[in-house]
Amino acid sequence: MVKKLIRMALRSLLDEMVGVGDAVLLEPLSENHFLENLQLRFQHDEIYTYIGNVVVSTNPYKSLPIYDSEMIERYRGRNLYELPPHIYSVSDLAYRSMKNYGRDQCIMITGESGSGKTEASKLVMKYVAAMSSRSTEVEKIKQQLLQSNPVLEAFGNAKTNRNDNSSRFGKYMDIEFDFKGDPVGGLITNYLLEKSRVVRQAQGERNFHIFYQILCGASPTVLKKLKLDSVEKFSYVSPGDANPDDAKSFNEVLSAFDVIGFTRAEVDSVLVLVAAVLKLGNIKFRSVAAKNGMENCGIVNREDVVDVCEMLSIKSQSLTSALTERTMTAKQDTVTCTLSANEASYNRDALCKEVYDRLFTWLVNRINSSIKVPSQTNKKCKVMGVLDIYGFEVFEHNGFEQFMINYCNEKLQQIFVELTLREEQEEYVKEGIEWLHIDYFNNAIICLIENPHNGVLSMLDEECLRPGDVTDSTLLAKLESVCGKHEHFESRRATKFLADKTLPHDAFRIQHYAGKVTYFVENFIDKNNNSLFRNLSNAAFLSAHPLLGGAKGLFPEGDPSITVLKRSPTSAFQFKASMSALMKNLLLKNPNYIRCIKPNDVKRSSVFSSDLVRHQVRYLGLLENVRVRRAGYAFRQKYEDCVTRYKMLSPNTWPLWHGAAKDGVKHILLNVKISPDQYEYGRSKIFIRNPRTLFKLEEHRAAAL
Ligand code: ADP
Ligand code: MG
Repeated sequence: MVKKLIRMALRSLLDEMVGVGDAVLLEPLSENHFLENLQLRFQHDEIYTYIGNVVVSTNPYKSLPIYDSEMIERYRGRNLYELPPHIYSVSDLAYRSMKNYGRDQCIMITGESGSGKTEASKLVMKYVAAMSSRSTEVEKIKQQLLQSNPVLEAFGNAKTNRNDNSSRFGKYMDIEFDFKGDPVGGLITNYLLEKSRVVRQAQGERNFHIFYQILCGASPTVLKKLKLDSVEKFSYVSPGDANPDDAKSFNEVLSAFDVIGFTRAEVDSVLVLVAAVLKLGNIKFRSVAAKNGMENCGIVNREDVVDVCEMLSIKSQSLTSALTERTMTAKQDTVTCTLSANEASYNRDALCKEVYDRLFTWLVNRINSSIKVPSQTNKKCKVMGVLDIYGFEVFEHNGFEQFMINYCNEKLQQIFVELTLREEQEEYVKEGIEWLHIDYFNNAIICLIENPHNGVLSMLDEECLRPGDVTDSTLLAKLESVCGKHEHFESRRATKFLADKTLPHDAFRIQHYAGKVTYFVENFIDKNNNSLFRNLSNAAFLSAHPLLGGAKGLFPEGDPSITVLKRSPTSAFQFKASMSALMKNLLLKNPNYIRCIKPNDVKRSSVFSSDLVRHQVRYLGLLENVRVRRAGYAFRQKYEDCVTRYKMLSPNTWPLWHGAAKDGVKHILLNVKISPDQYEYGRSKIFIRNPRTLFKLEEHRAAAL
């Protein structure tokens, strides 16, 4: 025990020497200094650094021995500054604040792909699970919550060039607790799955894990039932991409399904749909000369169509015509025209993307129905929300998805600033200390994007809904004429400055808070439209597959008896609505932040690429974050904690102070002769203006020990 204490003391002493644990105390504060500090800490495996109560986490790309149950015990119930920075510390703070003060919490995890967000969210869940009781009932719900991860990762994650296990969807999970602090249930919300990956993957990337997992992990009997064979046979997955872990993961997914409470029949239905997507992807079309001069096509491999139809319980003729024809209704007339081979392939891909996307949302809803809180316990629940969502993305070629993702990050930045400032402000008011206002808002950019009258999203929707010849170019022209004068919008023609030759003709550029991003308009209209041709939704509706067909199935809009057709909401409309609901939810909660940083592009544990990190530090607004924290007082500490730490600095407080903690602090500060303009007494805390003052205290303390 003594040995362990000595080790712990030594360690925290050593930790104090590895740079600065709280960047608020960096002196002087500069970008370089901030980076050097992160680098130094990273090189010593100190991957966590605070900015006040925000945790900056640098992906170590190796497993560190800092997450075991001993560590969990060490951080349990301790204050932020007592121990070296750790994700557990913030988890503990959030959990205790929820349990003891009844404040709903949210933990917002942001950072670019591969920076460690999903791992961080799992660590938070692990910590919280360890805090609560071990009764059978609680254990069951904990397992269900934890096991939702492997299922959603199998269907929603893929290997990309940035991350071998990259989440291709955004996720927000509310975990609900009873008054004892035990989890009683949860609710998951998913955002914008990258469904285009189902049919196409960039060089070196993979399709969603589940495809390989089934192909490599299912038993021969199951494969036969699913009409599948080896990976090489399927055009949606590249051969050679499967790896030995896929088979193992498949069993984990099956057992996760079981823990969550999926029935055998449900799992079978899910697997059949995934297999059907793979099979559909193999269907090829060839052009056929038609008599009437129209283009026409036929299906090359009819046996695959027969297989798919058998699996999905659809009539073969129904699927064939849905894939190769299009019926249009104008006024009272119905016209059916045939499709070219290219159009039919496009149609096939659209169907596969849509089936997979809706299956994913079905899975989330199904998990929710298992983990939702029973209605009788509903009232007393306290909530901890964990947000693991895509970070700001700037690629060489940015399209519709990047636009949506970056819009999401603008919204998150907005509430980050709002909440950090609000929290600071509240603290100053509560402690009776004067507040200095700083402006870091990005409202103008958000307005450019989501203003209902002239924002980019509204223009996009207007263009999609406009009858007539609508193309990505007409969209760009509209954006140029409506948004062209906005200070954060640029395009080749609308640019307010001298023609910027670097801007392509088919793109617009937005000055985000995190930097400029050029978006190519190609496919914006198509991706926003989000509607499947009616022939396809009809065919899917008529399927007898338990998940796919019928009014409660994945394509309710395909009901042929519906004659007055409502357009399905556009992607932009849906995304904007889901963002607004998310923001509303987050704003009701007490925020906690984990800002993740990717140290290098090569997934290596020993490389810290300063330029790459500098870029992230900028767009995560970390320096601004430090500045906001330092705007008034760099450091604050409860009087009790302050006396405990510095009691050796005054004969009045040493070895033990019996009076009011605030008076003890007064003795200490007077004795070390710190100028009174350097601090202020709040109601429960001492506020210290300059980090140097704190260093001075620490030096005195070190000398006195
Ligand atoms: P993101 O969700 O931000 O895209 P992930 O959480 O999937 O990133 O992390 C990418 C990879 O980095 C993980 O698969 C893991 O190998 C590694 N990693 C991330 N965080 C940690 C950590 N705390 N400890 C060890 N390895 C980590
Ligand atoms: Mg992730």
